[in-house]
Amino acid sequence: MTQKPVEKVNLLGLTLPKMEAFFISIGEKKFRGAQMVKWIHQQGITDFEQMTNLSKALREKLKEIAEVRPPRVTFEGDSSDGTRKWLLEVDGGSKVETVYIPDGDRGTLCVSSQVGCSLDCSFCSTGKQGFNKNLTVAEIIGQVFVAARFFGLPVKDSQKRSVTNVVMMGMGEPLLNFDHVVDAMSLMLEDQAYGLSKRRVTLSTSGVVPNLDKLARVTEVALAVSLHAPNDSLRNQLVPINRKYPIHILFDSIRNYLDGLSDKRRVTFEYTMLKGVNDSDELARELSELAKTIRCKINLIPFNPFPGTRYEVSSRNRIYAFQRILLNDGHVVTVRKTRGDDIYAACGQLAGQVADKTKRSSRYIQIQDVTERIQDIPR
Ligand code: SAH
Ligand code: SF4
Repeated sequence: MTQKPVEKVNLLGLTLPKMEAFFISIGEKKFRGAQMVKWIHQQGITDFEQMTNLSKALREKLKEIAEVRPPRVTFEGDSSDGTRKWLLEVDGGSKVETVYIPDGDRGTLCVSSQVGCSLDCSFCSTGKQGFNKNLTVAEIIGQVFVAARFFGLPVKDSQKRSVTNVVMMGMGEPLLNFDHVVDAMSLMLEDQAYGLSKRRVTLSTSGVVPNLDKLARVTEVALAVSLHAPNDSLRNQLVPINRKYPIHILFDSIRNYLDGLSDKRRVTFEYTMLKGVNDSDELARELSELAKTIRCKINLIPFNPFPGTRYEVSSRNRIYAFQRILLNDGHVVTVRKTRGDDIYAACGQLAGQVADKTKRSSRYIQIQDVTERIQDIPR
């Protein structure tokens, strides 16, 4: 009888404590964990043979039982403003998008957490694709690995660093892939790995309250919340999870998160501007009153249309009038910059990449262009 080959452990997805535990479990010293994390994430090395501070015997042992396997890059492309995009194939054959956006001395990487999304926000094309799977830790941190390796390591040298910020704003709802996202973020923050500061890693959520409460107990990364409406009746239509966790419950959970931080930081509210839906002066005034109840800044995002959507983007004048009302009340409000036409052409044309398990996607064909969502992230 032929024996099934033992599945190798993918060391790419192990946090420092888990890497140390792995080495202890194979009879090695704990410090091997930090060595391995550095080889992978700071040197970009995936071949055990090149890990020169490991003995020959250990390298041989590792080859038998382990591997360092990043997601496979199936497409990469630049646009004229320096934005770079990778399409990565993950286990099961689906593809996810990772986008790098340079802006002055900042380089922001927009990372996906799931293939598709189960939450079905009415203006989001990822939601319209339906849900396929949670990404593994290796697939999430693998996006940072691929980008950091492309730009040249080490990333820890702030002069040379190319990926200065990470935002969990790609495909998927990060709080619905909680454990994997938390582990991946821990590698982003880990000094032996990417060493990013907790202010430069942002998790964006549509408001999965119980998991936001859990998050408050395990991390201090920056928080962005997709608000999109200042009252429950409108938010129920745009962000269906609001029916389960309405605004006052969500706000309590955000306050609890902010209170748990060791520094004074604000939540960033994302508010996608939808023509004739959530962009009136009256709603701006309602949003202003709501925003006074919490430490926040507001990021107005022009809606990015996709085929099959019933929404349109608010006019530039409407967006600025909406912003003015909030500014006059003393709020910090940014409007996401619009990008050149070539970006629209280069990105967001990824038809049929999600093998939808919910069958929702039959109505829609495109994946949301994540580059459109991630401007004006807190520095
Ligand atoms: N699931 C998480 C993170 C991914 S979505 C969340 O909802 O926060 C990242 C941001 O893009 C969210 O604020 C989301 O509301 C916004 N977004 C989704 N579709 C959009 C579209 N078509 N145009 C502009 N922003 C969009
Ligand atoms: Fe999912 Fe976020 Fe899109 Fe809503 S906006 S469907 S939570 S990815």
